[in-house]
Amino acid sequence: MRVSQDSTARSLSKRAVSEFDSALSGDLIRPGDEDYDQVRSIWNGMIDRRPALIARCKVVADVIEAVRFARRHSLVVSVRGGGHGVSGNAVCEGGLMIDLSEMTATHVDTQDATVTAEAGALLGDLDRATQAFGLAVPAGTVSETGIAGLTLGGGLGWLMRKHGLTCDNLIGVDMVTADGEFLRADDDTHPELMWGLRGGGGNFGIVTSFRYQAHPVGPSVLAGFLFHPIAEAEEFLRFYQEYAAQAPDELTTIAVIRIMPPVATVPEELHGAHVVGAGVCYIGDLEEGDRVLQPFRDFGTPIHDSIQTTRFTDHQAALDAGVPAGFHYYEKAESLPDLSSELIRTLAEHGEKLTSPYAFVGLFQMGGAVSRVAEQDTAYANRGAAYSLIISSGWENPSDTDDQMNRVRSFWKAARPFSAGGAYINFMSHDDGQERVIETYGQHKYRRLADLKSIYDPTNLFRLNQNIKPTSPTADTRA
Ligand code: FAD
Repeated sequence: MRVSQDSTARSLSKRAVSEFDSALSGDLIRPGDEDYDQVRSIWNGMIDRRPALIARCKVVADVIEAVRFARRHSLVVSVRGGGHGVSGNAVCEGGLMIDLSEMTATHVDTQDATVTAEAGALLGDLDRATQAFGLAVPAGTVSETGIAGLTLGGGLGWLMRKHGLTCDNLIGVDMVTADGEFLRADDDTHPELMWGLRGGGGNFGIVTSFRYQAHPVGPSVLAGFLFHPIAEAEEFLRFYQEYAAQAPDELTTIAVIRIMPPVATVPEELHGAHVVGAGVCYIGDLEEGDRVLQPFRDFGTPIHDSIQTTRFTDHQAALDAGVPAGFHYYEKAESLPDLSSELIRTLAEHGEKLTSPYAFVGLFQMGGAVSRVAEQDTAYANRGAAYSLIISSGWENPSDTDDQMNRVRSFWKAARPFSAGGAYINFMSHDDGQERVIETYGQHKYRRLADLKSIYDPTNLFRLNQNIKPTSPTADTRA
């Protein structure tokens, strides 16, 4: 997918580019360079954009150089953390892509259970670093996702009902602002900025490292996946919603409707099976977890039940193979106030119409610690939602694009009347426009974010994201 974003890069002089190159510790990559195509590629193979320059940053000074260079030459800027954003905002057409994927260092301070991680780190890097000390930072569900985009949008994952969203565990950042200055922020020094960084996305600057609160977790947890045939979807989901509503905070579940993908981590007899079920992760006392999960496992006759004592890091990587990098992906999302019978009927009916083994519908169970943070305390929106719904499809052959996108859209249209208003911003696709962003935050929160944007990025330099427009933009044709 190509989008015309800027062509000012064409007027860059060789000398300016060469000076920029010399100022960087990392590589400056141009069209025609051997690794250009590989470096501009992101997880979603549908995104095919060609930046004029890619700065592969190695140190904070590179990020500062890159931002200043982009400003000086009026270049569109995109920021790449882990490259997992489905909307493809990590890569720009014709501008400067600031790539942080080589900045992955992590440091755990066991004294106060805090972790500092550079912004190119993936969830797997963070888990490996923390689990060595029996700690974990709540993050997502696929180990190859970048911590940066995930944290700044919120961060939903297996630990959230006990320990909150990733952004709730964010205690400080190092970042580079839109004017190319370095800034170290925490709640004491920049409380309003920290408020915005906890769910406001990449709008306020380029975070170069995150500081998190970690928690004792594992190394063993009780976790896995349980599935029933899709024909039992309504019955299962009705039981599931009652079961999940009673679940203790130690248990986080994600209900799923999908066709099982033909990958090594899925037993062969399940390949191609159309299923309904849930993934679970219990992080408390394991014997108590057995008792808590028994009714869930006893319901009906599952065709697959892999719930067992397992390493937390293994559970964190269990879904990786089902979302291969380079496939084409499209998704839609909504925050749901509850799982009503009518909605369950809709999900079951449309679930049967999925055709790709890389398509799935996920219902992330919210509540617990997520809902105990007051709505106004962070930019992250819709804390009261009971579920965060994602309808996603993946396919390998570009000729399937229209069909798969239409299927996702039609499913989404059917689910939309049940929305609490808006969706998780990190599950938005390239065609979720400004009105979806405003709908998600609501007018009041959006205005507060826009005021913050006016302070930190008044020309909207960082606009390839779920964009917050500055309240009073300065004269700048790019904004
Ligand atoms: P990128 O594509 O690199 O970045 C996305 C955007 O974030 C950029 O366009 C930019 O606006 C911003 N950004 C990135 N880095 C920085 C930075 N250093 N400073 C400022 N802004 C920055 N989300 C969940 O919450 N829970 C899940 O379980 C979950 N599972 C997922 C599984 C898969 C397979 C995928 C593809 C996504 C999943 N997500 C999940 C969504 C995920 O949170 C977003 O895709 C997120 O944007 C990924 O971050 P990234 O750094 O990899 O993305």
